[in-house]
Amino acid sequence: MQNTQIILAQRPSGMVMPQHFNLQTADVPQLNENEFVVQVQYISLDPAMRGWMNEGTTYIKGVAIGEVMRAFAAGVVLQSTHAGFAVGSLVQGMFGVQTYTISNGTGVTLIPPSSIPLSWYLGILGMPGLTAYYGLLAKGMPVAGNVVLVSGAAGMVGSLVGQIAMLHGCTVIGIAGSNAKCDYLKQELHFSEVINYKTDDVNAAIKKYAPNGVNIYFDNVGGAILDAALLNLAYGARVVICGAIAQYNDVHFNGLKNYMKIVSAKASLCGIIVLDYFDRADEAITQLTHWLQVGKIKYQEHRVTGIDNFATTLQMLFTGENNGKLILEI
Ligand code: NAP
Repeated sequence: MQNTQIILAQRPSGMVMPQHFNLQTADVPQLNENEFVVQVQYISLDPAMRGWMNEGTTYIKGVAIGEVMRAFAAGVVLQSTHAGFAVGSLVQGMFGVQTYTISNGTGVTLIPPSSIPLSWYLGILGMPGLTAYYGLLAKGMPVAGNVVLVSGAAGMVGSLVGQIAMLHGCTVIGIAGSNAKCDYLKQELHFSEVINYKTDDVNAAIKKYAPNGVNIYFDNVGGAILDAALLNLAYGARVVICGAIAQYNDVHFNGLKNYMKIVSAKASLCGIIVLDYFDRADEAITQLTHWLQVGKIKYQEHRVTGIDNFATTLQMLFTGENNGKLILEI
């Protein structure tokens, strides 16, 4: 059996490009005791991948040059000598950007057979879903009547944050990068207000839609949008720093300009790393599955097919071409 793998070939300086990766094929090795082969069917493309391509360690070690690119993925067990993972089981784990992987079960989740598509366990019922759920509820601590501002609002994490905030009685303002995405947020997800950061004056628009200030700012993008949000904090506001995709390809990270507003608004600013909540995954998955089944939340996936399209598909996260959770189908 031949495994097709995407290898990290070079570390980028600036935008991630196809030449930073190599495609190689290798034989799938024979199984040892207590191992199984997964045929990968879906690969999750996440903004964090850009950080994993850098040298050194942040919350997780960077991928080494020559190593298979790290990725969450889902698939089916094809061969097994492991009592806990029978042939035919559906599984999810850090399988990497490759068509097959061998695992001993560490860090692998069995997916119960159901009518829910397997790929959803990489999105709304996977790592990014937990990020939105615990990032908003555990860190943002929404209270009915709060005004919640979210950036990257039409994306995977942002669109779920906005919907969960509405289910908690909050007014939600979303920031996104096109009129089509803003229309989706307003018409399909029923956000109260939307701001197109490419055409609107973000600071003026937040002031207009939240004249008494924002109680929670859920930040997926960092940079100038975070600075504009800081100018509009209500007293006691919570700022949840989830990501800074606007700066992931920058060679130098720019700091905040308006950080003194954190003092004058007596606000708090905190970060979230979803790995801290993996031991509470069941609670979030049960609640999110229920909301999906009763139609209280909507979920959008953007699928591209073919492992050889990995690099150009990953770029879509940084150009904003993805509409919803970006998945590579193998
Ligand atoms: P996503 O929002 O589905 O896709 C990325 C979106 O970012 C793009 O569609 C684009 O939308 C927007 N974007 C790209 N460049 C931008 C720029 N320069 N300025 C403003 N927006 C820009 O991705 P996701 O998976 O939900 O991730 C969203 C954020 O959450 C990322 O920052 C990610 O790193 C973070 N995250 C953090 C954790 C954690 O544990 N802390 C876990 C998961 C994700 P537009 O068309 O609207 O520009």
